[in-house]
Amino acid sequence: MSRLAKAVVCREWNAPVRVEEIRVDPPQRNEVTIKLTACGVCHSDLSATNGTIQFPPPLVLGHEGAGVVVEVGEGVTSLKEGDHVVSSFIYMCGKCRQCVRGRPVLCENAAKALFQLPDGTVRTHDADGNPLNVFGACGVMAEYATIHVDNLVKIDQDTPLDRAALVGCAVMTGVGAVFNTAQLEPGSKAAVFGVGGVGLNAIQGCALAGAETIIAVDTNDAKLQLAREFGATETINPTEVENVPKAIKKLTGGGVDYAFECVGAGTVVAEAYKSLGRGGTTVVVGVAAPSDKTSFGTFSMPADERCIKGSWLGSARPQHDFPRLLSLYQRGRLKLDELVTRTYTIDEAPEAFEDLQAGRNARGVIIFD
Ligand code: NAD
Repeated sequence: MSRLAKAVVCREWNAPVRVEEIRVDPPQRNEVTIKLTACGVCHSDLSATNGTIQFPPPLVLGHEGAGVVVEVGEGVTSLKEGDHVVSSFIYMCGKCRQCVRGRPVLCENAAKALFQLPDGTVRTHDADGNPLNVFGACGVMAEYATIHVDNLVKIDQDTPLDRAALVGCAVMTGVGAVFNTAQLEPGSKAAVFGVGGVGLNAIQGCALAGAETIIAVDTNDAKLQLAREFGATETINPTEVENVPKAIKKLTGGGVDYAFECVGAGTVVAEAYKSLGRGGTTVVVGVAAPSDKTSFGTFSMPADERCIKGSWLGSARPQHDFPRLLSLYQRGRLKLDELVTRTYTIDEAPEAFEDLQAGRNARGVIIFD
């Protein structure tokens, strides 16, 4: 039986999001329906409302969700009613070459499930019966969602779901960029450009991994203050210094070993690259529009053995990493409570997007009844 659910929908690019009552169909083969408890509001959701991320509207937003399984489709053996789950915005088939070699975020079948379920259809319809696409095959900024099992990770029942949701994107992306993509060694020097929901997690990832120097770079002073609470040892506001790479080289005596770009702008990628010392690595986490470009001299790549890498969902193996990060939280090692600077009801979702755009939150989280 279909369920009625309030959902946050992008109807057209560059227009405010809308809260609509939609119909969520029951699960088909290898799918489950979940009742959402919480969903974080990520910059990537905002990017889908302005065409930076080009998922075609109408689109149910949300990819950082956690909830309880309420119905399972035929063939589902790994989940049952009552299980607690976190969404993964990347579909992982578990069988292709990339999944088998331990890189499920690069799943060769993920492209089938960008804004629809992997079979190319959706379980979401508006009040007039028209299909609604779903962000990252999830669309979890809604009271209910029907999702393929391979986009879900089961977690312990005793983890609070409103905290667990954050691991589905911001925490995994930021901490994973440090642990998995960079594999930062203790004693390293690091800089994080952009310390919003993702960048603050890169900061705490650097701190957990034992970085000696952690420089937060952000145009928003309130974010820089938060970054100190998450482990930054130095802060730089680019509007207050003439040349950020020079300032970083001065602070570190030659440049950082790792620079994490968590903004989503080619200009910032170049700044991050120029802030590296010899042998340094820039990790690009921010997602820019397809037309965005960057530019820097290439001589230093061979001569200084500098490199540049991308990081997608923190190079995660979600089935392994989501529970691992939640266990760090349960043992008081990972800050999740401090990330949630404001919660919203689903009816307040438009305000949550305005607040994200204005940089008012570390992470805003929508809590469902
Ligand atoms: P956010 O809006 O919470 O944070 C962005 C931060 O960047 C803000 O604090 C802002 O003040 C700062 N900023 C803006 N311009 C800046 C500049 N020129 N220099 C320094 N700081 C600047 O966003 P978020 O949710 O943390 O997402 C950050 C980026 O990561 C986005 O591009 C998002 O789409 C991307 N993202 C990537 C992945 C991935 O898997 N690679 C996953 C999730 C999000």
